[in-house]
Amino acid sequence: MKLEVRLPQRGYAIHLKKGILDGVGELLRQTFQGPKVLIATDSNVAPLYGERVRNSLERAGYATQTFVFAAGEASKNMNTLMDVYGVLADGHFTRSDAVLALGGGVVGDLSGLAAATYLRGIRFYQVPTTLLAQIDSSVGGKVAVDLPQGKNLVGNFYQPGAVFIDPDTLSTLPEAEVLGGFGEAVKHGAIMDENYFARMEGYQTIADLLKDSEKLIEGSLRVKIGMVEQDERDTGARMALNFGHTLGHALEAATGFDRYIHGIAVAWGMAAVARGSVAMGWMKAEDARRLNALLERFHMIPEVNLSLDDLMGKAASDKKNFGGTLTLVVVPELGKHEFKRLSLEELRRFTKEALP
Ligand code: NAD
Ligand code: ZN
Repeated sequence: MKLEVRLPQRGYAIHLKKGILDGVGELLRQTFQGPKVLIATDSNVAPLYGERVRNSLERAGYATQTFVFAAGEASKNMNTLMDVYGVLADGHFTRSDAVLALGGGVVGDLSGLAAATYLRGIRFYQVPTTLLAQIDSSVGGKVAVDLPQGKNLVGNFYQPGAVFIDPDTLSTLPEAEVLGGFGEAVKHGAIMDENYFARMEGYQTIADLLKDSEKLIEGSLRVKIGMVEQDERDTGARMALNFGHTLGHALEAATGFDRYIHGIAVAWGMAAVARGSVAMGWMKAEDARRLNALLERFHMIPEVNLSLDDLMGKAASDKKNFGGTLTLVVVPELGKHEFKRLSLEELRRFTKEALP
């Protein structure tokens, strides 16, 4: 199946199909005629899928080079970015060539920033292999690396030329990572699409979810694409995607960013916002119960023993907190969202209601 992202400058296609890894070269030929492709990937993904993608590109007549870096968020930094630039420059890559990201969000964000800046921008393609990357990070054009001072502090918006998604790659993904991605999928349903949410309520096990992976990915992508098309630069409508993230991010910050997988912190944040919202009369109690039940079924709401002060100290330094107020995304009923502009004091009172 093929989805389109329509943007004022230049749109792009998202190809979603089981087994598409072996057809990436042929499909890429429809949009990219250049001679050379740098496959950027990490040390977990390279041995699993590197060769299939390389063979597919070479069958389609591209020259390829592969750059592999150590898997993990710790690699998403300036040093690895320098390494990518070095490979591109030493390999005499020109603006007729391309970078293809094969991997999760770390690979996509890092190599996207490299492609956006090397020679002021060369073509960029994504082959996401985690559920999170397939439903979220590979679409929308946010590219970045981390600084010691914080995550994603250096980046830009740089849309890919196309995205190729093979749901079969999820078969090798650790279950914890599958659930991390699923947290964002539940978010997509909760803020925009009640039917999609109900489809996910039909899953009893991770196996159910993987069996339905193509539809699962499609449902999320439709929500994400809609948001990106309305608000490419994340200054308005797209902020709805922050549902669960204000408190989820506070939890991540308070626990040093390595305790919880991001999507699990978001799941905790969504459950907390739902609880607080019901207390404030901002959300239908029955819909909060459904959200909670779905997350609980997959054990996605960790027990957290943090004080209000621990959490709020971090929420106040969130980069999305402008001038002493911040925007909290709430879900009045499943499939709809609203923005609440809160002062830090109001957020604190809300969070008190939200904590179990
Ligand atoms: P990741 O890229 O670190 O991948 C998670 C782990 O799974 C890694 O160890 C990776 O090597 C491994 N892996 C990847 N695919 C695999 C497969 N098919 N089989 C087995 N193992 C596999 O993490 P992620 O969750 O994909 O992405 C997180 C990153 O994405 C963060 O840096 C975050 O900031 C970023 N992000 C970006 C956006 C955006 O819009 N650009 C959105 C959300 C998150
Ligand atoms: Zn997120």
